[in-house]
Amino acid sequence: LKVESIEAYRKDFPILSLKINDYPLIYFDNAATSQKPFCVIEALSNFFLSANANVHRGLHELSSRATELLEASRATIARFINARSQDEIVFTRGTTESINLVAASLGSLLKPGDGILLTEMEHHSNLIPWQQLAKQRGLRLFFLPIDGREGNLQWTSLEEFLIKNRIVIFSFTHVSNTLGVINPVESFCAIARKLGVLTLVDAAQSAGHRPLDVQKLGCDFLAFSGHKMCGPTGIGVLYGRKELLEKMPPFQYGGNMVLDTDFFESRWKEPPHKFEAGTLPIAEAICLKTAIDYLCQIGLEKIALHDEQIACYAYNQISSLPCIIPLGPTKKRAGIVTFSVKGLHPHDFITYCDRYGVALRGGHHCNKPLLSKLGIDSAIRASFYFYNTKSEVDRFIEIIDNCLRFFKLTG
Ligand code: PMP
Repeated sequence: LKVESIEAYRKDFPILSLKINDYPLIYFDNAATSQKPFCVIEALSNFFLSANANVHRGLHELSSRATELLEASRATIARFINARSQDEIVFTRGTTESINLVAASLGSLLKPGDGILLTEMEHHSNLIPWQQLAKQRGLRLFFLPIDGREGNLQWTSLEEFLIKNRIVIFSFTHVSNTLGVINPVESFCAIARKLGVLTLVDAAQSAGHRPLDVQKLGCDFLAFSGHKMCGPTGIGVLYGRKELLEKMPPFQYGGNMVLDTDFFESRWKEPPHKFEAGTLPIAEAICLKTAIDYLCQIGLEKIALHDEQIACYAYNQISSLPCIIPLGPTKKRAGIVTFSVKGLHPHDFITYCDRYGVALRGGHHCNKPLLSKLGIDSAIRASFYFYNTKSEVDRFIEIIDNCLRFFKLTG
């Protein structure tokens, strides 16, 4: 992205012109949640001003307006990830709920002894649902290991591993929220598909950051959250192949998801509706379309390239400073740079940076087992998006330099 285009995009985000502690905000916490452009903020209030009603069951004008907008959003999401049909798009509250849905629903069809493969870099939301399911149903959990601090997955004998351990589901992240590693989704899915192993891709960190094409990736399920891609909080997506969604039992029960019911029996609607019990976050689901339209107009390829360039620039600058221990790959990476500082607790570092307007995140990043394996209990993460600039990184480096001096950490 050209500097002039970034400056123009920044104007779409009112929050980016805030001062924090008298310094211009440098928002480097995008992996936790992204900021929202004015068009999304406006679309939310426009919905409440002119189209607010519950969907699907009303016969009045406002209800049909809200229903049409909701279904138009579903169609946009389907095109955004190149699903074959909009019936493959289930609205959820976010990635976490999407994964819980698959673990609970598909999980109920698994047999004791079946194997589930995850990786060592999974976010807690793609670990704990499976861990608990495994306990309840006597399933066996396996983890694809990472190779050291760079964090690339070791998968040379994946095919034999899947066969030997009777793996039925392989669930893994597209992009690691801590390491910034981008996993070879297409290769994983191709190997799994050949053996009839189902795949779930956690796209929380890749949706809105790089192009996603579920047919090209070859996955069976894909989960993501609206709030990390310029959309509202409280809305997420589960993509599932239609044949699978048809076979899977509902996840929650209640209104809107039944065709027919009496006191003792019920029949479900077709997917996606059988997975959408109760009232959805309607406004948020509708405004996810606004966010997607906004991102598509910038271009996902361009966003991916910008993420990578700014992260590599930051990685190289940060790693050259004294006392810094960087994590993740040295070359190709998503827009995430995580590191620790020898002799300084991440919370002290982050508090120092916050004093100068820089928003970072520290802790285990919901990746506790991964950090334990790396022998760290807490790390600092700077994560970028298309509205971040090289000069913000330069200013950040200056602040780190001052911080190291302040704490007398000079190598
Ligand atoms: N997976 C990954 C890789 C993530 O980074 C996150 C969010 N930090 C999640 C899952 C969970 O997303 P949410 O909290 O929006 O459900």
